[in-house]
Amino acid sequence: MIAELISVGTEILLGNIVNTNAAFLSEQCAGLGLSLYYQTVVGDNPDRLESTLKLALERSDVVILGGGLGPTQDDLTKEITAKVLGKELREDAHTRERIAGFFKLRGVEPDKITENNWKQALAPEGAIVVENENGTAPGLIMEENGKIVILLPGPPNELIPMFREKIFPYLREKQPEVIVSEMIKICGIGESQVETMVSDLIKAQTNPTIATYAKTGEVHLRVTARAKDEAAARKLIKPMVRELKVRFGGAIYTTEEHVTLEDSVVALLKECGMSLTTVESCTGGLFTGRLVNVQGASEVLKQGFITYSNKSKRKLVGVKKLTLKEFGPVSEKTAKEMARGSLMITGSDIAVSITGLAGPDGGTEEKPIGLVYICVATKKIARVQEYRFTGNRAKIRESAVVAAMTQLRMVILENIRL
Ligand code: ATP
Repeated sequence: MIAELISVGTEILLGNIVNTNAAFLSEQCAGLGLSLYYQTVVGDNPDRLESTLKLALERSDVVILGGGLGPTQDDLTKEITAKVLGKELREDAHTRERIAGFFKLRGVEPDKITENNWKQALAPEGAIVVENENGTAPGLIMEENGKIVILLPGPPNELIPMFREKIFPYLREKQPEVIVSEMIKICGIGESQVETMVSDLIKAQTNPTIATYAKTGEVHLRVTARAKDEAAARKLIKPMVRELKVRFGGAIYTTEEHVTLEDSVVALLKECGMSLTTVESCTGGLFTGRLVNVQGASEVLKQGFITYSNKSKRKLVGVKKLTLKEFGPVSEKTAKEMARGSLMITGSDIAVSITGLAGPDGGTEEKPIGLVYICVATKKIARVQEYRFTGNRAKIRESAVVAAMTQLRMVILENIRL
C-alpha cells in the first residue's frame, strides 16, 4: 500500500519547530512495509489543506495527517477532512465525557471549560475515534472508497504513543507485508569505491535492495527486504549480507544498526586485552572524547595527552627538540615520536598520535591546511599514515578522528591475527 504524510502547521513552515513527527511516522511506515512516496507540510490554511488532501487521496492508499486537531480556530484538519470526504461532523459522546474528565483532573469544572474545547468532541460520521491518553483531541480513522485517512494530534507526546499503541496495530492488519533492513558499516574505504564494488548488486536489485550512505570517513550500506513477515525478510537479507562480507571483509566494523566505530574499537581492545594511550595535537582531545563516549572505555583507555604546543610535545611525551626543529610539529617523525614516547611513559600496549593542520591559518605550499599525520604504535611497530583532508577546521578535525579510529582498528586486527 502507498502511504503519504501531511504535516499541518504554519509553525513548521516558518521553521519554528522541527518536523520530528514526520521522521517518526516515516520510520513507522517503513516498519509496516508501507511505501511512503510523498510527505507534505501545509500551513493552517483551509484551501491549501483541502487541495493537499485531495491530491494525496488521488495518489495514495493511506493518508496520515498530523496536527491541527486542537481547540483553536486555526485547527482545521478535521473540518477539512470531513468536507473532502463529504461527511457531517457529529458529537462523539464518549469524547465529550473524556474531555470533561481531562479538565476535572486538572481542577476545572465543566461550566468553566471554554466552549472551543468541545469542538474536539466532534468526529466525522462513520469515523473510528481513537482515544488520546495524553491530551484532549482524539485521533480519527476514516475508511472511504478503499482509502484510509488517519488524523493524529500534533504534539509528539500525544502522536507517538497513539500511533504505537493504536494506529500501528490497525495498519498492521491492513498491510500484508513488512520491510526489514540491516546495516553494514564500512570504514577505511571511500564512498565512490564502495559504490563501485557493489554497483552490480545495486543494478540487479529488486528484493532486497542496497542503499549507500556516506558519513565522515565511513560508508554505511542498508540492505532492505520486503516480505510477508520478519523471518521471511531476514531470510532474503542473509545471502546479500554474506556477499557483502566477502567483498568488504575486515573493512566492515559492524552489522549492528546502533554500534559506532568507537564502540567497535573499544570492543576490539577489550577482546585482546590491550591498553591504549592517546596523544592529540590538532584534534585537541576530540579522539579521546569519542572513545570515552563508549561505556566501559575505562577498561582500555590508560591515558590521554593533549600536546598542542611544541613545548608540551617535548615535555609530556618526549618529542626531540631537533625533530621539531628539522621536521616541524606536523611531520611523520613527530607523529612517531609522540606515539612511541607515550608508550614508554605509560607502559600501554598501543598508542595513537595525531598531529596536523586544521586551519584556517598556518598552511604553506609544502604543508597545506588539512595535512595530518597519524601514528599507531605498539612495542613492535610504529605505523604512520599521511592524510590530506579537505573542509573547514571542524571537518578536518572530525576526519582526523575517524581516520585515527580506522587506523587503530586495523592495527589491532593485525595484532589479533599474529
Ligand atoms: P493542540 O491541541 O496542542 O493544538 P494539535 O493537534 O492542534 O494540538 P498543533 O496545534 O498543530 O496540534 O501542534 C501543537 C504542538 O505540537 C506544536 O506547537 C508543536 O509543539 C507540536 N507539533 C505539531 N506538529 C509537529 C510536528 N510535525 N513535529 C513536531 N512537533 C509538532
